[in-house]
Amino acid sequence: MCGIVGYIGQFKATDVILNGLKKLEYRGYDSCGISFYSDKGKGFKTYKTPGRVDLLINSFDYNEANHIGIGHTRWATHGAPNQVNSHPHSSSSKRFIVVHNGVIDNYQELIIKYLEGVKLVSETDTEVIANLIEKFSQEMQVDQAIRKTLSLLEGSYA
Ligand code: GLU
Repeated sequence: MCGIVGYIGQFKATDVILNGLKKLEYRGYDSCGISFYSDKGKGFKTYKTPGRVDLLINSFDYNEANHIGIGHTRWATHGAPNQVNSHPHSSSSKRFIVVHNGVIDNYQELIIKYLEGVKLVSETDTEVIANLIEKFSQEMQVDQAIRKTLSLLEGSYA
């Protein structure tokens, strides 16, 4: 169980996401994280921490944030509640960034079948999702790659 917030709109993404994560914190509070588009960095920045949302709030520069982002409060099922295993998780090229609620029962089979040679950095089932989308997007449109990935996942998730 976890809390997920995604935002795109006129307000500062970090304000909306952190506010949402605080409200959802009861769903999972062993760790948390946020990814947002940074005007300064001209790309997505990810910040993660074990512990509560208040720790995350103090861990980055708000001036960087733009109007697009995702956030997560975690209740670990796969892997210890540490920084590396906290969400969001990126694909290996960092093109795709994912937050996930639930469990992917067949994630180890999917690694063996589709992700040979891909360097996974966490112990989570979630990281597999981002990397499957990346792999399939090399052969098809991104929306099709997402659909194909979802069709392969077994478990209960959002
Ligand atoms: N299975 C994922 C993990 O352990 C998601 C857990 C959750 O729903 O918070 O990271």
